[in-house]
Amino acid sequence: MPRTYLRRSGTDGNGMRMCSTCRKLLPLDLFSKHTANPDGIAYGCKSCGYKSWKRSARKRKARRRTAGLCVTCGKLPVTRPQKTCAACQEHVRKRLSFVRNFVSKP
Ligand SMILES: [Zn+2]
Ligand SMILES: [Zn+2]
Repeated sequence: MPRTYLRRSGTDGNGMRMCSTCRKLLPLDLFSKHTANPDGIAYGCKSCGYKSWKRSARKRKARRRTAGLCVTCGKLPVTRPQKTCAACQEHVRKRLSFVRNFVSKP
């Protein structure tokens, strides 16, 4: 029986794929779609993608805070100790009240 050669990142033909970040062999449904790749599936698994997204989001927020900009939209200047601009605060408030209404309905 020929040994299946597994590339650095690729699908092994049994519905498993190696994540290029954590190097684990994981089922395909743990990978998101990535149309730019030849096989249409992301190189990294979802949890690695989420981790790197979180990391970059944290960096982006830190950069915005030091620049004195709203951490959510990064466009409007804010006065400390506020982190988000009035528009973003309003947006969050509206969403929260929507969720609350939704939850409190019988
Ligand atoms: Zn991974
Ligand atoms: Zn904002």
